[in-house]
Amino acid sequence: MSTSIQNISLSGRKKEVSNKEMTFMESLYLVAIVKGLMITIKHFFRKKVTIHYPEQTREMSPVYRGRHMLKRDEQGRENCTACGLCALSCPAEAITMKAAERKKGEEHLYREEKYAEIYEINMLRCIFCGLCEEACPKDAIYLTVSKELVPANYDREDFIFGKDKLVMPLEMAIANSKSVN
Ligand code: SF4
Ligand code: SF4
Repeated sequence: MSTSIQNISLSGRKKEVSNKEMTFMESLYLVAIVKGLMITIKHFFRKKVTIHYPEQTREMSPVYRGRHMLKRDEQGRENCTACGLCALSCPAEAITMKAAERKKGEEHLYREEKYAEIYEINMLRCIFCGLCEEACPKDAIYLTVSKELVPANYDREDFIFGKDKLVMPLEMAIANSKSVN
């Protein structure tokens, strides 16, 4: 026996609608209203799933991936060598960069002979997957576990994070190297 395709319900919640006349009780909608109220009252006493953000914030997962940071080494030099592997591995095509050659006298700023003169991440595109971090051969980029989120803004340009927002603060690099020693 073949089943008509129109009779198959994918969700299993399909209901036949009939045009039969309503009874007097049904036409008063009293039962339906009471049923609806009961559902509302039931939800009053349930544990709330919403929180009063920003006054309240949720506990972050220990494996939370936060904002990106471009690391410095223990001498405060930028690790990134502008190889482009992070940009290649990014599924959202969120990373762009421009490489430059390190000049004489800049050895204290950049660890490698080539560095990222411009390094930008479009936070509107980023899905915080962490693939850039995994692809990096220089341990130069990582997604922080800090609770700092990408702030809300009105302009799209404000979501393009350049080196000014991405590079690890020098004080942090110094503090890290002291804690290792
Ligand atoms: S976290 Fe993922 S989406 Fe975001 S920049 Fe890195 S690779 Fe791209
Ligand atoms: S962050 Fe890492 S992968 Fe990306 S350009 Fe710099 S060194 Fe290469």
